[in-house]
Amino acid sequence: MSVCPSVIAFRVEFDLPLLMSGPNLTIQPGCICSEEKVKKEYEKVSDEEFKQIARLVNKNSTEELYCYKFRCHCCGELYTIERRYSIEHP
Ligand SMILES: [Zn+2]
Repeated sequence: MSVCPSVIAFRVEFDLPLLMSGPNLTIQPGCICSEEKVKKEYEKVSDEEFKQIARLVNKNSTEELYCYKFRCHCCGELYTIERRYSIEHP
């Protein structure tokens, strides 16, 4: 197993010759995202803005369904936010 150069630098810098890193050298930051949090965040987006970023996925004579997919930049989890708009018939 090769050792990440930064681990070697750490060993020297902090005088820790036995310091090891795990087989996976990339550090995965813990993510606290959840569907609830993402949906709550997107509730702040106005209807006007939402229609611009979202995709119209379904439409019938009475309503339109817009769908937006949000991928968490931290952990990569994908969330789908949907909004329905009723079509007003003048
Ligand atoms: Zn996340």
